[in-house]
Amino acid sequence: MADYLKMWQDLGMDVEMHNQLCEVLPQAFGDVYLTQKNRPEAMDYFNFVVAEIHGVRPVELIEHQKKGGKVFGTFCLYVPDEVVFAAGAIATGLCGGSQFWVPGGEKVLPVNTCPLIKASVGARLDRTCPFFRIADMFVGETTCDGKKKAYEILGEDVPMYVMNLPQMKRRKDILAWAEEIKDFIKVVEDFTGNKVTEESLADSIRLINAKRTALARLYDLRKNENIPISGKDVLVISQIAFYDDPTRFTEKVNKLCDELDQRVKDGVSVFPKGTKRILLTGTPLAIPNWKLHHIIETSGAAVVGEEMCTGIRYFEHPVDETATTIDGQAEALAERYMNINCACFTPNDKRIDDIIRLAKEYKADGVIDVNLKFCELYDTEGYKVERALKEAGIPILGIETDYTDSDAQQLSTRIGAFVEMLSK
Ligand code: SF4
Ligand code: SF4
Repeated sequence: MADYLKMWQDLGMDVEMHNQLCEVLPQAFGDVYLTQKNRPEAMDYFNFVVAEIHGVRPVELIEHQKKGGKVFGTFCLYVPDEVVFAAGAIATGLCGGSQFWVPGGEKVLPVNTCPLIKASVGARLDRTCPFFRIADMFVGETTCDGKKKAYEILGEDVPMYVMNLPQMKRRKDILAWAEEIKDFIKVVEDFTGNKVTEESLADSIRLINAKRTALARLYDLRKNENIPISGKDVLVISQIAFYDDPTRFTEKVNKLCDELDQRVKDGVSVFPKGTKRILLTGTPLAIPNWKLHHIIETSGAAVVGEEMCTGIRYFEHPVDETATTIDGQAEALAERYMNINCACFTPNDKRIDDIIRLAKEYKADGVIDVNLKFCELYDTEGYKVERALKEAGIPILGIETDYTDSDAQQLSTRIGAFVEMLSK
């Protein structure tokens, strides 16, 4: 990584502690990613982004701030990036996916909080992530209880705005979410000093839709019998989607897809013929959480899709671009975002339908339902997921894990046995 020490110091980071993270991350990325054979050339860009993760994008965000621009940090798919970009600001993801940040979160949160929340709080309070230092405002949402309470703690340290997400999906809930989006537009306008106009919102809807379309193209390529790219590589791209400049990201994903199109034409696969295909479902896998994909793909199977927020939930359902008023655009955004099936909703049967649909579309031989430890929502929903998949005749394995490596061996054994069972 280039020398960003001065920038990290200026951001008030705990540089000494942060150095420990900088020392282990390249090794982890090397072990998990660079050992793969026959990776697409266009992955070079994404390798670079990870190698420079706490440098190159933070520099761009700070440049933007020097010109008077604002940066908004978000934690969930429901917060509409479109609104932020429409006000000339930048949205960046803030979810923490490393065990490194967990102890910092445990200083203020109950230990039995999910690692995603603990890591996200720890990254801010321990001052060991530049993104958490740069964001001028954090935007939370009322999804799960753990997050709601964590936002109150974060709000004592940084300007925090929380969007009130309904927990059902009736027509009146969708309209309530459209109202909430309009309130968010006002908050963003006040904070940035810039007006969100019909034109600027239409532009940012197109911008984010283009990103979603590129990701959909990438995921479609995984549906081929010859799988042109590993699940691990797609996972890191999905994770980078939360941070990178959307225009550049879209261009790089499309460039990769051009290369993968050629691979499909040439019958190239990164897995041997007959490799079992796995669809993952469950809680998000924030960067740099690559553990499960690595275990699965070194256990003789391939991950062909993720029904997750770091996956298909992120890009399916583009926003309708035809609305021409702020009211109409807010409603179009609400309709789109309420199509995301998070376990915080009740009922949430559409998620279960989706898992079955996606298992068929991606020709999965089996599904692994991944639950981050202490996430009650996804854990409880797992009961219905498992039952529905069994009824549909789709093999399923439920697992619970966290960010540590202490269960890696045990997971390898269970996943290995599952893959073997699929081969019989
Ligand atoms: S799982 Fe739910 S709460 Fe978490 S990021 Fe996804 S939509 Fe948001
Ligand atoms: S994984 Fe579960 S507990 Fe953790 S933030 Fe997401 S919904 Fe909340």
